[in-house]
Amino acid sequence: MPSILSVFPKEQVVTPDDGTAYDNATHRWAGNAERKAKYVVYPRTAQDVAAAIKYAVDNALELAIKGGGHSCSGASSSEGLVIDMRDLAAVSVDTDNQLITVGGGAVWGAVDKEAAKYGLATVGGTVNHTGVGGLTLGDGYGWLTPKYGLVIDNLVKAEIVTASGDILICSATENQDLFWAIKGAGSNFGVVTYFVLKAYPQPNTVWSGLVIFTPPQLEAVSKAATTWLQTASVDESAMIFIACPPPTFQPAIALLPFFNGSAEEGHKRFSAFFDVGPVADLTKELPYDDMNSLQNPMATHGDRKILKSACFSQPDNALVQAVFEEYVKLTEEHPETKASAILFELHGHAKLMSVPADSASFANRGPFYNMTMAMRWKDPALDTAVRTWATTLAKSVRAYEEAHSTLDLSASRGYSNYGLGDERVRDVFGTHYDRLAEIKARYDPGMVFKKWFPITPKA
Ligand SMILES: Cc1cc2nc3c(=O)[nH]c(=O)nc-3n(C[C@H](O)[C@H](O)[C@H](O)COP(=O)(O)OP(=O)(O)OC[C@H]3O[C@@H](n4cnc5c(N)ncnc54)[C@H](O)[C@@H]3O)c2cc1C
Repeated sequence: MPSILSVFPKEQVVTPDDGTAYDNATHRWAGNAERKAKYVVYPRTAQDVAAAIKYAVDNALELAIKGGGHSCSGASSSEGLVIDMRDLAAVSVDTDNQLITVGGGAVWGAVDKEAAKYGLATVGGTVNHTGVGGLTLGDGYGWLTPKYGLVIDNLVKAEIVTASGDILICSATENQDLFWAIKGAGSNFGVVTYFVLKAYPQPNTVWSGLVIFTPPQLEAVSKAATTWLQTASVDESAMIFIACPPPTFQPAIALLPFFNGSAEEGHKRFSAFFDVGPVADLTKELPYDDMNSLQNPMATHGDRKILKSACFSQPDNALVQAVFEEYVKLTEEHPETKASAILFELHGHAKLMSVPADSASFANRGPFYNMTMAMRWKDPALDTAVRTWATTLAKSVRAYEEAHSTLDLSASRGYSNYGLGDERVRDVFGTHYDRLAEIKARYDPGMVFKKWFPITPKA
């Protein structure tokens, strides 16, 4: 094998001999997602990306792409070659056209901050150290989703380096099939060096913050959520958390409301919740570009982690209560899982459903919400127990929906970006799978990109 240093200068490559630099290069948000890479390469141009792909292919090295590094499954880690997009992370704003160009290795915090300089914002991740790359290529929900749709609905263009090293622009008018494919199944087709996203005026501060309730108030909180959803405007959204927060580390209920306006009006819009009598109200007005940092203290790096999701159509008390009881059982049996949280993400879906389901390969568009299990623990001996618990709970939520929902659940698959990674790929992409397999055969017949819900190329 020729030395990688014949392709890249040393400052763009990290190997196991590089001590702390290597530890940093292989560090991931979830400790269980870390792998001992042979090489970590930091491209500075699309041509560098093409050269790194070629080196991996020529030398039969498994390839992984790292954006923000938040995959819990190891999708952005490899024992072969990792292309780390860290140095392709510039963010620039075109105010005339209200567009943001974002490097494939940027995190959402950088996007929020740069856009805010021009009084703009876009739909983006609600924890601002997550990567634009993975989140966008898998779909993308954010606080502005009720008003502007999914991140992929706001993706205008992307530059992608394919398995053969071609550097392609894809958009609604160029390489449309690839553009369709990367909006949901984007880990399958190449390395995105930059994204162009729509931006929107965001001149005012927003209102948010945790509102804490006790477990006996859960029924009243779920009823309040149902009441609030009936009249929630596109400027409102919310998450309900089941977690064990400090200082007691006992199961509790928290609301994280979002209102794109004043505190006074926010309290009115969310009055159904405040009528329940929360034990703490930590809400305040804040700049939009700080909004996506509110959850950061609950989403720190380290430990073992998985995400798993299920869809639900309404925050019914019976459903929320059953989930709460399962959470209590797990955390009592394994106290170190108290660092875990369950999120009922109540982003309104009218806007995202106004976009045709076949406009993107993403196949989870429908009149339902995501329930996310964000599981955290330390002891590897608990891995199987926690994964099994999460998978079982997701199945129970599905069974509850099948028994109680009047909705068409055919597109309700669980959000793949909150998946464990062992879900059936055909289930993840549903009726879009066959078209994806055709596109995969054209752009990646050798399955160079196969780390996250890999599509098998059509023969
Ligand atoms: C704390 C936390 C909060 C979250 N909040 C939200 C949320 O609010 N909304 C939401 O929709 N999702 C959310 N997610 C899920 C998130 O979308 C996924 O975890 C996503 O994969 C993270 O992207 P990343 O770039 O950080 O991950 P990585 O681990 O770097 O990458 C994940 C996948 O994307 C691929 N990838 C990344 N960048 C590129 C690129 N430039 N080109 C090609 N492939 C690339 C990788 O190869 C890998 O397959 C959250 C996740 C976490 C852990």
